[in-house]
Amino acid sequence: MLVLWAALKRWAVVVWAPFLLYGVAEVASGLFYNTGFNSFVIGEALEADRAEFMAYVTPTNVLLLLLAVVGVGGLAYAQWRCLRGVRRLPAFSFGCLFLLLGALGAAAVPPAKFNYAYLWPIGKPVTVAAKVDEALNYTNALLEQLSALPSPAEKPSTSDFVAPDSGVVVVFHLGESLRADRMSINGYARDTTPWLRQCPDVVNFPYCVSAAFSTCDAQPVILTNARRCLVGGERDMQPTTGSVFELFTKHGFPVYSFFWARRSLEVRFHKVVEMLAKASVDKFYADGLPLSSLPKMKQVLETHPGQNLLLYINNEGSHVPFQFFDRETAPFAPWAKDFSSPAAQAQEVNNAYDATVHYTDKFFREVAEILKGRPFVYFYVSDHGEVLGDGGKWGRGAFGEDNALYHKSPACMVGMFVICSPEFRQMHPHFAEAVQQLRAHSDMLVGHEHVFHTLLGLIGIRSPYYDSSLDLCSPDARPYEGAHPENYAPERAENVRDVGKN
Ligand SMILES: [Zn+2]
Repeated sequence: MLVLWAALKRWAVVVWAPFLLYGVAEVASGLFYNTGFNSFVIGEALEADRAEFMAYVTPTNVLLLLLAVVGVGGLAYAQWRCLRGVRRLPAFSFGCLFLLLGALGAAAVPPAKFNYAYLWPIGKPVTVAAKVDEALNYTNALLEQLSALPSPAEKPSTSDFVAPDSGVVVVFHLGESLRADRMSINGYARDTTPWLRQCPDVVNFPYCVSAAFSTCDAQPVILTNARRCLVGGERDMQPTTGSVFELFTKHGFPVYSFFWARRSLEVRFHKVVEMLAKASVDKFYADGLPLSSLPKMKQVLETHPGQNLLLYINNEGSHVPFQFFDRETAPFAPWAKDFSSPAAQAQEVNNAYDATVHYTDKFFREVAEILKGRPFVYFYVSDHGEVLGDGGKWGRGAFGEDNALYHKSPACMVGMFVICSPEFRQMHPHFAEAVQQLRAHSDMLVGHEHVFHTLLGLIGIRSPYYDSSLDLCSPDARPYEGAHPENYAPERAENVRDVGKN
């Protein structure tokens, strides 16, 4: 470094400038989002699509970037001027002197308090490269693990209660970023889920703990027999078999998948999602907001009127930057048009988030509408929550790589419900009994690991991978025992009132 410094002389500024700019960006990220550049943030940034990227390109952020470039440029120019005419040997000697002073300073710090950040910028490229590597390779390891799993369809299994071609439709909706405490059905004062709140057939689970704050980690726990992961920093309770969809396919429920527009992009989440939904006979990608997939869904239902079907929905929901709702009819105004400096526009960001929840409620209503007349099950669960100013933090990057921290936050409690149509309940005594058991367990603390077994239990599919203690339709159902916030049951608001426009 010293030799390079002496050799470059005035031009050494080109080595310093990028570090300075990176440092300024990190400080700005800390100020506005209370988040550093960890591997989660880098991973999200690497796969952001154009719309997500543009949500951060706001006049304020562009101005800040310009100021940072000008500031760093000014510093670099000052250094360049100061070093004019300095010869290599004195430059090298000066460098040695400063290195010595730095080393003395470092020696004065007690070893327990020593931080590699004191060696700035020497350690920086190494830590940045490690974070990028972690962000890129983590998914590869997960994909390898998932692809090596045996299919649950390989072992003998039975399904005794649904006759082939009974026209039963199972809708499994894996939602995005929906926090339980932001749904009026769970007592949130703002009426974000007006339809769900009044739906007579809904069995609501207000206390569902999600497995992980990243979509990649949560999805396998929901769709396979995996259980909690990353608790205490360790991945534990690994899956021993693949996606539940393979068992449904085997027992006469072909899977049709409905994804969001960005799922068609080559992003890492997409690969995990594709792997778990590989049993799909057909996949559709929405060309706009989630409701734009409705005509396709309707078409699949109409072309298979008597067939048993599984519709898998995995769409935008309440994902950052909270823009997936109808702007014309936004129920809570003013809403933030981007996700820059959320702390400064907390109310607007919260309005936008609540508007996405309200829109998702409308989506539930519209899907239930097109299913009318058929025996159907609509099972919804969100993959993870979102950080909305809790403890002054915004965005899931706040958890860094620490899932234990996530499980102490209210952001880990997610929306979950099951709607069973009267036609479904009346088809067989097993279904009526299953729905009764669901109701009996609805106030229990549940987790993502209940989903795989409950889906099988509801339809009555028996497989060696099925565990009745995790089936909420079974009298054997046991509560979730993993990490969760201490006060997971927030006090319910006395009166649910509508503070919105609609
Ligand atoms: Zn997600």
